[in-house]
Amino acid sequence: MMAGPVPAIAKVEPLTTARALRGPFDYLRPDGVEVGALLRVPFAGREVDGVVVGLAAHSELPTERLAAPLRVLDRSLPADLIDLAGWMAREYCSTFARAVGLMLPPAGTRERTALWAQAAPGARGESTPQGAPPRLTDSQRALLASLPRFAGDDLAALRRLEKRGLVAIAPRARRRVVIHSAVGAAAHRAPELTPAQAGVLGEVEAAVAAGGHEALLLHGVTGSGKTEVYLRAAGAALQRGCGAIVLVPEIALTPQIVTRFVARFGDTVAVLHSRLSDGERHDEWLRLRRGEARVCVGPRSAVFAPLADLGLIVVDEEHEASYKHEGDPRYDARGVAARRAAQAGAVLVAGSATPRPESVHALRRLRLPERVDGRPLPPVEVVDMRDSTAALHPRSLHALADEPKAIVLLNRRGWSNFLECRSCGRGWRCPDCDVALVLHRAAGTMACHHCGHRERVPETCPDCGSVSLARHGTGTERLGSELRALGLEVFRLDADAGAAGPVLAAFAAAPHGVLLGTQVVAKGHDFPDVGLGVVVDADATLRFPDFRAEERTFSLVTQLAGRAGRGRSGRVLVQTLEPDSPAIAAAARHDADAFLTGELARREALRYPPFSDLIRVVCSAPERTGGAAAAAGAVREALGEPPGARVLGPAPLFRLRRRERSQLVVKATDRAGTIAAVGAAVARADADRAHRAVAFSVDVDPQ
Ligand code: ADP
Ligand code: ZN
Ligand code: ZN
Repeated sequence: MMAGPVPAIAKVEPLTTARALRGPFDYLRPDGVEVGALLRVPFAGREVDGVVVGLAAHSELPTERLAAPLRVLDRSLPADLIDLAGWMAREYCSTFARAVGLMLPPAGTRERTALWAQAAPGARGESTPQGAPPRLTDSQRALLASLPRFAGDDLAALRRLEKRGLVAIAPRARRRVVIHSAVGAAAHRAPELTPAQAGVLGEVEAAVAAGGHEALLLHGVTGSGKTEVYLRAAGAALQRGCGAIVLVPEIALTPQIVTRFVARFGDTVAVLHSRLSDGERHDEWLRLRRGEARVCVGPRSAVFAPLADLGLIVVDEEHEASYKHEGDPRYDARGVAARRAAQAGAVLVAGSATPRPESVHALRRLRLPERVDGRPLPPVEVVDMRDSTAALHPRSLHALADEPKAIVLLNRRGWSNFLECRSCGRGWRCPDCDVALVLHRAAGTMACHHCGHRERVPETCPDCGSVSLARHGTGTERLGSELRALGLEVFRLDADAGAAGPVLAAFAAAPHGVLLGTQVVAKGHDFPDVGLGVVVDADATLRFPDFRAEERTFSLVTQLAGRAGRGRSGRVLVQTLEPDSPAIAAAARHDADAFLTGELARREALRYPPFSDLIRVVCSAPERTGGAAAAAGAVREALGEPPGARVLGPAPLFRLRRRERSQLVVKATDRAGTIAAVGAAVARADADRAHRAVAFSVDVDPQ
């Protein structure tokens, strides 16, 4: 076979934010430059970074008009990610440069040393070097048991033990990532699989062994041992010489899964998450790029991990909304994972106790119907709140008094959700958004939960001077104070209460107490001694004007129930104003199948996903100039009636950050065609000077 001519042309996409740019542009190809290389190139009289998206033997331009790149940068992307970026730009109505921007490694930094802590000789036994048995608190004992490892936030505590001759601390070169290990590695020896796990794993392994693409849904009840299946599946991929990506919703809330992967696979695991410094991220990224690490665990952005020969992508807790990215491109990591797995010929495993109707509809489903320990799921009691005025029903209060450890979910932060003047009826609203301000008592502020506006809590009504102001509604701050007044120890977990990790650790270690918080308390935590779960206001999610309201409610109740009764028997109380709602009734019976069947039928009747695709266009304009509705109207007109699609709106949205807003929602049956049509219509409206004050955003698969 004769080799073709060596491609002399590099097709380069400039990494600029300009939307109107239509690349790629041809440059002379420097020696050795391949697809994915980053170059510094002359461009329109400037210098910009660009990425090579293709090679060609010939250009349509004469060679003498082609520019040479100024230099080849020391960073590059694998070619398959270049392909993925092109797809993302189309799929999410964005630009190639913005998509690639999500994948680029951070610029390099130097290596770093850190402090390595290990038990001092003799300290692990029951005596100090001086001979007497050391007096240790439980947390000090746990600290010692976790050694040897690098010191982290606990350096001060380790130093105290060092002073007593129990710990030795010295600098040591390291990769910069601290894995916060909540549990000692010894606890993570691989358990023997249950027959159900073995059956499911057999299916996943067979798919991995087949070496082609397949997408599977692992529907396993809470505590059914899904993580063990992911671990074994990753092991199977590694054995075949393949890499694996494991996506988790939020590292800070579920550190256990990271710990378990690191304990099982050691340095083969790279962890990528948002709390890493640039240097740490750089190290992990390079370890993956060089093939030193073959498993990547991280939140949604880890779907872009530069792993070669990908064999497996796991999406844990696939129902979680945090897989959706709210910046441009507004990608959904579940959609990107499916695309990447298909492109790489890898197996996709999406797992959840409450899978999305979309996934149930589209993927082959594997089931783990029982908990690993054979314990039943806790009984769920629906508490009718229609005759109740207090936040907690007497039955809930009794249960809390009886149960040493409980989790209470109230999906509302702050003290009370609105303030009202008893004399004149004045309400307190955000000056910049059309929403009520929430009272935060400890902080002494009224806060807008949409834009962050804050003002001081008023003592009198500015309109009528009355000092009689009513505080309506109960948030986590107020409920926490009420529970404390009953003598309960409260561990509050919400966005106002500080970092989640320490609160969760303190609750885990406490012999009794209540973990109280917003929906973060229902995430995949594994506390074996929690015997009670209470959902204070199960209707909060149900009242949302959103077609996913039912799904969210079912998921929240089921996930909270999943936290109770793990190592002991348990029960769950669900307070609601709508005891007959199908989502709440099905969750109370642990009947996911009934819920999913009903929900899919409802969505089919209403033509909601998965029976259509939704594309949302939001136009916003400063309230001074206005014009959001007109712009949305212009998009609608430019769009016409695309084949198979229905266009709803323009409809006004509430004012946000001093911007008025208007939206269109398109229900599409021809996904790709309609996405392209919407993109073109928005581009036309955007190019019209009449709408120059307007910002347009397109959201495919909005949450
Ligand atoms: P899920 O992710 O399905 O909610 P986990 O993977 O967290 O469940 O498993 C629940 C608990 O059961 C964990 O503590 C885990 O270590 C344990 N576990 C998992 N598989 C087994 C097994 N085969 N034998 C014993 N314990 C297991
Ligand atoms: Zn008043
Ligand atoms: Zn606001």
